[in-house]
Amino acid sequence: MKKIVSILSVFFVFVIINSCGSSKEGGGFNLFSVEDDKELGKQVAQEIDSNPAEYPVLDSAKNVQAYTYLYDIRNRILNSGQVNYKDEFAWRLRIIHDDNQLNAFCAPGGYIYVYTGLIKYLDSEDALAGVLAHEIAHADYRHSTRQMTKVYGVQVLLDFLAGDRQMIKELTAGIIGLRFSRSHETEADAASVRYLCGTDYYAAGGAKFFEKIEAEGGASVPEWLSTHPSPGNRIENFHDQAIERGCGGNQEHKERYQKLINALP
Ligand SMILES: [Zn+2]
Repeated sequence: MKKIVSILSVFFVFVIINSCGSSKEGGGFNLFSVEDDKELGKQVAQEIDSNPAEYPVLDSAKNVQAYTYLYDIRNRILNSGQVNYKDEFAWRLRIIHDDNQLNAFCAPGGYIYVYTGLIKYLDSEDALAGVLAHEIAHADYRHSTRQMTKVYGVQVLLDFLAGDRQMIKELTAGIIGLRFSRSHETEADAASVRYLCGTDYYAAGGAKFFEKIEAEGGASVPEWLSTHPSPGNRIENFHDQAIERGCGGNQEHKERYQKLINALP
């Protein structure tokens, strides 16, 4: 009995330590530690990179121009001084060659993926910077592992820690299709503006994706977006944040952006 009590108390201490986290992180209980985020992200990235049939990742050695361009945007975001885990997380970028996907996602620990379909859909660099900043925020606020804690519970963490390969496969698919809560999406949108506020970009660039979707009558809303909050609310939130913060950037870098699109296969 004594042993059970001590095991339980260790578990609760673990829970309390983890649930405190950094006050800058997003809300919601998280069973995963920061180290778990890094390890899980690394394994998810390995799973994606070793499965080109399902995830046709563009070779960074053969697509130097496109990757240099994306890393340049990434660096501006990381150098905003606003990213909590700037030095701890990988912040590795990969482009997935699928023109039909209007999507981007970021695995825990900063493994960012963006589809060619999304890059080609957008019209300007500030819009892409807004999306990348939003995805970086999901990882930086550790939203994925919070959401997984909520959806899958403690068993997923135990299976992951036990090195269950099948579980990594399922988690990879889960992370790509993960639906965040309304508060996590709102938090990532606000962070996107905060990250871009010190750059020359229009800081609410992230709104442009939703504005284009709305202008087209919302018909092409990808499934991952057909959830709350509504595009209209998100657009308003982006612009309000930029006004409240007094962000002065207004550059779209449209010409430069066309060069990125032209550099893609
Ligand atoms: Zn999101």
